[in-house]
Amino acid sequence: MSRFNFEVITLLPKAFELINNLGVITRALDKNLIDVNLHDLREYGEGSYRQVDDKPYGGGAGMVLKPEPIYRAYESIRKSPKSRTLLMTPQGKVLKQNDLARWSTLNQIIIICGQYEGFDERIRYLADEEISIGDYVLSGGEIPAISIINGLTRLLPGTLGDPESLIDESHNSCLLEYPQYTRPLTFNDMKVPDILVSGNHEEIKLWRRQKSFERTLARRDDLISEKNNDKSVKNKKINKNSNYLLKISTKNEYDNYPDW
Ligand code: SAH
Repeated sequence: MSRFNFEVITLLPKAFELINNLGVITRALDKNLIDVNLHDLREYGEGSYRQVDDKPYGGGAGMVLKPEPIYRAYESIRKSPKSRTLLMTPQGKVLKQNDLARWSTLNQIIIICGQYEGFDERIRYLADEEISIGDYVLSGGEIPAISIINGLTRLLPGTLGDPESLIDESHNSCLLEYPQYTRPLTFNDMKVPDILVSGNHEEIKLWRRQKSFERTLARRDDLISEKNNDKSVKNKKINKNSNYLLKISTKNEYDNYPDW
């Protein structure tokens, strides 16, 4: 298995120090399963002030990232044949687990982080996909980028202590995870459901499946709506070209449920 390569263009490379203290990512870096190269946008800035931003044409508040430094930084990156370029923007498609699974079959992700009021429109041409991590606005693309690196890395073989933990978790198979308990059996008068200590594995499986459905219906019925489970040829193809996560998910009993 070759190493998964992240290339990140950012004005705040220091923000990525977090990944050196982030469990799964740190372990993956130590084990050489991934590498993360930071491209400091400032180094590609214009003139002696290394200018990276400017006022918006037409007026308005704040500064906008200029195209030239980002294009230069982008061109300095050696692209792998299985590479995808993601632009962080609150205007993008909202990130889903399925996207992470899809990208985990590649071997390179290039991430462009915005700052300030955003970026010159022409920067969009570099992106294969524009990604938002949710319907809110942050001050920069660094936290979204770290979220993607984190979520994707834990799907790569060898990164999790126990890959079994990917099987039932929330957002795999469009369902939220069932309730989990650990010791003690009773805590503040709250008791672990009897079924979980019954030793009957078939019954436990059924209970968990039932709870997953109940919980998804109660909290996120949008996840199992028609719209989100379209059976288009394109969707089928993504599932067929499946990756580690989706391969695991084919062993998952949820797959027996209507065509998802
Ligand atoms: N004025 C811009 C927002 C700029 S926020 C607009 O209305 O679209 C500054 C930068 O932070 C963005 O360019 C983007 O890279 C990043 N960012 C902010 N919120 C984000 C989100 N929800 N998802 C992904 N990136 C985000």
